[in-house]
Amino acid sequence: MQENTRIADYLLYLAYLNKKLGGFFENQSPYIFCQKGCAKCCQNGEYPFSQLEYNFIMIGFSKLPEETREHILQKVKKLKEEKAKFGDNYTYECPFLINKECSVYEFRGIICRSFGLMSINPKGLSKIPFCAFEGLNYSNVIEPETKIVSLEKYKKLGDNLPEPLAYNVGYEFLTSKNIEENFKLNFGDKKALIDWF
Ligand code: SF4
Repeated sequence: MQENTRIADYLLYLAYLNKKLGGFFENQSPYIFCQKGCAKCCQNGEYPFSQLEYNFIMIGFSKLPEETREHILQKVKKLKEEKAKFGDNYTYECPFLINKECSVYEFRGIICRSFGLMSINPKGLSKIPFCAFEGLNYSNVIEPETKIVSLEKYKKLGDNLPEPLAYNVGYEFLTSKNIEENFKLNFGDKKALIDWF
């Protein structure tokens, strides 16, 4: 694990985070269309990972059959070659995604856990998950042209629905100094997942 971080402390944080995110997803369920086998959020991204998260996902990796590990490493090698050609901001399908399922689900990163909710970015603005524009999360309340929540669409869905909300679950906040202090963690450096290999 990352220097100065005990795995037990990171597991405590993940338990806290899973519970908190679970509550948010539950509250926002009228707008959430995540389902097994969708995997859109794992098919095109940069996947920021801290040193701590990388060390943790590699524990999951080490538990996979040798053949699967080799398959993942081959994908990483190819992606790194492509990234070298295309440059920064290169987006790709996560190498841990196999048959549209995460091969290291219990060990996945923090960004993987929070994706799908509307979040608040460091500038205090709402960030809508990209799948909203592919007919998925929040697509029933977002106006595609303006990219904001439509009051009209929300009202049309009926009475007594929770408001569509953006939560403070941006990656920067979930891996902030504040979280490090509260949970005795040290996230370390952060970079795109394939850059750790
Ligand atoms: S680690 Fe797993 S959940 Fe995260 S992007 Fe990769 S396949 Fe998806």
